[in-house]
Formats: sequence, structure tokens, C-alpha cells
Amino acid sequence: MDLQDRLTAVRHRIQEACRHSGRSPEELRIIAITKYTTLEVTEMILQLGVSHIGESRWQDARDKWQALHATGAWHFIGHLQTNKVKDVVGKFAYIHSLDRLSLAEEIERKAAALQTAVHCFIQVNVSGEQTKQGLPPESLFTFAEQIAGMEHIRIAGLMTMAPHEADPEATRPVFRRLRELRDDLNALNILKYEVGGLSMGMSNDFEVAVEEGATWLRLGSVLFGRPEGNKGIRPVGVTSGGAADAVSRGL
Ligand SMILES: *Cc1c(COP(=O)(O)O)cnc(C)c1O
Repeated sequence: MDLQDRLTAVRHRIQEACRHSGRSPEELRIIAITKYTTLEVTEMILQLGVSHIGESRWQDARDKWQALHATGAWHFIGHLQTNKVKDVVGKFAYIHSLDRLSLAEEIERKAAALQTAVHCFIQVNVSGEQTKQGLPPESLFTFAEQIAGMEHIRIAGLMTMAPHEADPEATRPVFRRLRELRDDLNALNILKYEVGGLSMGMSNDFEVAVEEGATWLRLGSVLFGRPEGNKGIRPVGVTSGGAADAVSRGL
């Protein structure tokens, strides 16, 4: 399957999940997570009409961003160290990993200096896994109060990562909880504006996330293959006989 076919298959699966849950596909955006793929393939996915691109490290994103940023909207999805905020603000329209006050303060400072606003998702560690970033759910409302007055941060919604489960159905309570937290945040009117976004659902579990109200899907391997080349999918953009082939042959 080429990239176009994979994208068509993904869109079809999203439509089916929408149909099951009485949602409209219009409410959903795909963010193509290009962290494991090349500049050429990133350009291809933009040409295929996916206009949101996500990257998790500036070092990996830089060449792609420099060549292509005029074309799409760029999302920073990875853990963000405070000293790296300067690389991200002004380049990425969205940050999905806002999870602490010191980070919010630095984003606010850098955005104010550039006279720009950054759309941020508050990352919540719903599952409570030690390896996952994000605020504990019980800290969300206090955190929202602390950042509510920051004029250069616009909260677009909440973001979470579900544990990797063999059965995607097992992720459902995590996604449901994030939706409930967003609804509670709105009911309490802490931010004084309606927060609509739910950034949740990855290659392994996006249909469940759609059924639970996701508005932004962060999709990498289902579109581009995996860097290890396992599951029989060769990473798109890696020519045959290259290093990835050697890896998949176990050499
Ligand atoms: C890599 C990454 C994704 C995409 O993961 P896939 O399972 O390949 O779709 C989504 N969100 C975050 C935060 C990531 O780091």
C-alpha cells in the first residue's frame, strides 16, 4: 500500500467510527506525526491534503519545518523542556504538551516577546503510568486557574496518551475520562472561554478515541509505517536495500 492508500484506509476507518458514535467526520482533524519519516514523505502527505503536521523534537523537525512550514500548521507534541521553548514558540502554532506552570510561564514570556499567541493543549496523565508525561487529573483545575490570565496562551483543549494495549478497547476509560475533564473544565468556566479540543488517539487506538469524542488524532505509524519496519510495513520513503531493510531482515 502506498501513502495515498493508507490515508484513504485511515479516513474510512474514522468515518466508520463516526458512524458508530453518531459523530460527524467534520469534527475531527488528522495530525500526521512525521517524526519517523523524511522531508519528502512529509511533503507528500501535505500534498494529499493533510494540513496538520506533528513533531516531537525540534532537532528532528527542523529540516522539514524550514522547507515546508508555509504549507501546513505545525504541532509540537513531545515533552518540552523549558530551555527549548525558544525553538518552538513562533514556529509551531500548537503545543500539545503543556503540563506544568514553569513551562506555561516560559511559553507566555516567549510568545509575548514575539507578539504571538500559542494554542496549547494541557497534557493530562489520565492513566497514571509513571512513564507518561502530564498533570495528574486532580491538578487540572488548579493549573487552569494559574494560567487563565496568560494572554499569549490560548487553551485549545486537553491531550492525553493512552497506555499501549493489545486490545484498543481497554483504552476507552482513559479517553472517556479526558472528555469528562474537558466538560468539567468548561462547566467551571475557569478559562472564561469554551475549550473544545481533545487531542487523543494514536495509530493503535484512534477508533476508540473517535467514539469517545476526540477532535484531533495524532497518527504516525498507521500512515508511515514503523521505524523498525516490523509488522511487515516498510517505512515509507526508505528505499529498498537501505538500512531499514537490513534491520527488518535482522542483519
Ligand atoms: C509518536 C507519537 C504519536 C504517534 O504515534 P503512532 O502510534 O505512531 O501513531 C502520537 N502522539 C505522540 C505524543 C507521539 O509521541
